[in-house]
Amino acid sequence: MSKARYSIVVPVFNEEEVIGESYKRLKEVMDSTKEPYEIIFINDGSRDSTYEILNTISETNAQVKIIDFSRNFGHQVAISAGMDYASGSAVVVIDADLQDPPEVILRMIEKWKEGFDVVYGKRLKRNGETIFKKITARLYYRILKSMTNVDIPTDVGDFRLIDRKVCEVMKSLTEKSRYVRGLISWVGFKQTSVEYEREERFAGETKYPLVKMIGLAADGITSFSYKPLKLASYLGFIVSFFSFLFLLYVAYEKLFTNKTVQGWASLIAVCVLMNGVMFILLGIMGEYIGRIFEESKNRPLYIVKNELGFKNASSEDK
Ligand code: UDP
Ligand code: MG
Repeated sequence: MSKARYSIVVPVFNEEEVIGESYKRLKEVMDSTKEPYEIIFINDGSRDSTYEILNTISETNAQVKIIDFSRNFGHQVAISAGMDYASGSAVVVIDADLQDPPEVILRMIEKWKEGFDVVYGKRLKRNGETIFKKITARLYYRILKSMTNVDIPTDVGDFRLIDRKVCEVMKSLTEKSRYVRGLISWVGFKQTSVEYEREERFAGETKYPLVKMIGLAADGITSFSYKPLKLASYLGFIVSFFSFLFLLYVAYEKLFTNKTVQGWASLIAVCVLMNGVMFILLGIMGEYIGRIFEESKNRPLYIVKNELGFKNASSEDK
């Protein structure tokens, strides 16, 4: 088979209900380009029949390749693996659940042909997501922007096209806590966006429960900013300043008035409050130290159990 011009990277985790349909839509779209392409599914430790379905698909279509993780390593890691294995001149990352319409890829390809190296999908509207998700997502992207020096565009997910040279740089980044959309912005090159409406999930439910979402959010901020660490010193200064004023006031009362001593409750309140602040700050330190710990272990980002459809894949050597 001739070398693929486009690599479509699709991370999947328990997507048995949607995977058939997304393959169909992707295939239609990519066939219409009349150029060689490959679709790489990364099975991120699915516990349902996703892998079997993928396997059947790949048997009938040589353009479909599968990377099968030994367990669930997470969405961002799955995307990174896809980039490692992709061979196309342009690599497109897309979710499996059809929230990002595959048809938008054609517009991305157009931009790429105009000479852009990164074309990201900008969500104009999010259909079928909860108000809570919409609000927190909006807020989060703005906080992230204000905290980091990297120009991470707002309301942009991982749905994007990157040129081979950007992909090569991404492959050379070894950090373990991956925030792919941030890394791609950090890399630079000529970037642009295409706008689209985020659809409702085709079937099934989100594989990003709140806890995972918070984890991703924390990765985003801590990978690109150490401003939260500075919070401690700012707060320290502010609190010391006001404590000093308060001290003056107490001394004044003692020396020049004859008010009786009172205020046990307010004393406790201040103690408790300050303790709370301390714990928050300790927690922030912990977040960073934990990440340093992760990096220093230097374990591989992911473990592949099985690969299907790649030229030098073990399954084809037999
Ligand atoms: N996904 C994954 N590993 C995970 C969680 C999610 O590969 O641990 C995949 C999932 O199958 C989907 C994409 O990442 O293709 C986005 O997940 P989802 O649609 O559940 O997230 P949401 O759109 O709700 O933020
Ligand atoms: Mg989704």
